Amino acid sequence: AAKRAGGNRLEVFNDRMRVSVRERLLAEARLRQALDGDRDATLPVWFQPIVAAADGRILGAEALVRMRTPEGEILAPGHFITAAEETGLVVPLGEHVLTSALRHLLLWQDELGYVSVNVSPRQLSEPGFVPMLAGLLARVPTLAPHRLVLEITETALLATSVDLQERLGAIKALGVRIALDDFGTGYSSLTWLQSVPADVVKLDRSFVAGLADDVRKSSIISAVLWLARSLGMTAVAEGVDAEADWQALRAADCPAIQGYLFSRPLPAPDFDAMLRRSTVLAAV
Ligand code: C2E
Ligand code: MG
Ligand code: MG
Ligand code: MG
Repeated sequence: AAKRAGGNRLEVFNDRMRVSVRERLLAEARLRQALDGDRDATLPVWFQPIVAAADGRILGAEALVRMRTPEGEILAPGHFITAAEETGLVVPLGEHVLTSALRHLLLWQDELGYVSVNVSPRQLSEPGFVPMLAGLLARVPTLAPHRLVLEITETALLATSVDLQERLGAIKALGVRIALDDFGTGYSSLTWLQSVPADVVKLDRSFVAGLADDVRKSSIISAVLWLARSLGMTAVAEGVDAEADWQALRAADCPAIQGYLFSRPLPAPDFDAMLRRSTVLAAV
C-alpha cells in the first residue's frame, strides 16, 4: 500500500523500522507455527518461585511462557508477546499457559500453594474468557480456585473495551484471585487500587532493585506495603536479586518476594526438583 501511494513512500521507513516490521512478522509466523505444534514442547511454561520474605519458604510460583524455536532456541516473552497481543494469538496462547499452569499445580498441590498466571488485556476482553476459565477449573475439581492467581497490569485497565469491573467481578465470583502486576509503573496506580477488587499487589522491580541503598525507594515500598495491608491485600516484591534488598524487604515486613536471588524461572522438571529439595529441607 505504501508503494502504491507513491514511488518513494517506502523511504520514510528507516532501516531500524524495517527490521522491526520484519521481526514482528517473523514473531507472528513463529507463533502460529508454535501454536500448531505440540504446545508443551514449542511453548513450554516455566515457573519462578515466590517465597516468604521471612524464611525463603516457597509459597507459590509465577508461570512464565517461553518459545522453543525449531532451531531449539528458547525465547523469552519479550520476543513474541506483543505480536501475540496484536494478532489475537495471545488468546489461544493464554489458554495454553493457563492449562499448563493448572496441570502443574495439580501435580505439585502438596508442596505449592498457588500458581500465578499473566493475563493480557486482549485475553481479558475476550467474551469467552470467563467461561473458558470456569471450564479449566472444572477439570481440576480438587484444586480450590483461590490457588489460581491472575496477574493483570495497569495497561489492562486502559486497553480493555469491556466493562473491566464486571469482568473482574465474574473472575472473583469463581474464587480466582487477582494480582496487580508491575504495580507503581503506570500513571493511575491509586485509581487502580481504589477501583479494582484485587487480592495481591506485585511491587514492580523498578522500586525493588537497589532499595537497600535508596531511601526514596524504601519509603515508597513501606508506604505501598502499608496501603496494601490497610486494603486487606497481600504483597509480593518482584525482581529481588540482591541479598541486601531481601533484608530490607524483610525489615519492612514485606510478606513475599520473587527474584533471581532465590531462583530464575525454571523449566517444569527443574522446578519440580527444586520443590522436592526444599520440601526435604523443610522436613529436616
Ligand atoms: P512479569 O509478569 O512482570 O514477569 C516478571 C519478569 O521479570 C519475568 O520475565 C521474570 O523472568 C523477570 N524477573 C524475575 N525476577 C527477576 C530479577 O530478579 N531480576 C530481573 N532482572 N528480572 C527478573 P519474563 O519471563 O521474560 O517475562 C516478561 C513479561 O512477559 C512478564 O512480566 C509478563 O508481562 C509477560 N508474560 C510472561 N508470560 C506470559 C504469559 O503467559 N501471558 C502473558 N500475557 N504475558 C506473559
Ligand atoms: Mg507477572
Ligand atoms: Mg510483574
Ligand atoms: Mg515486571
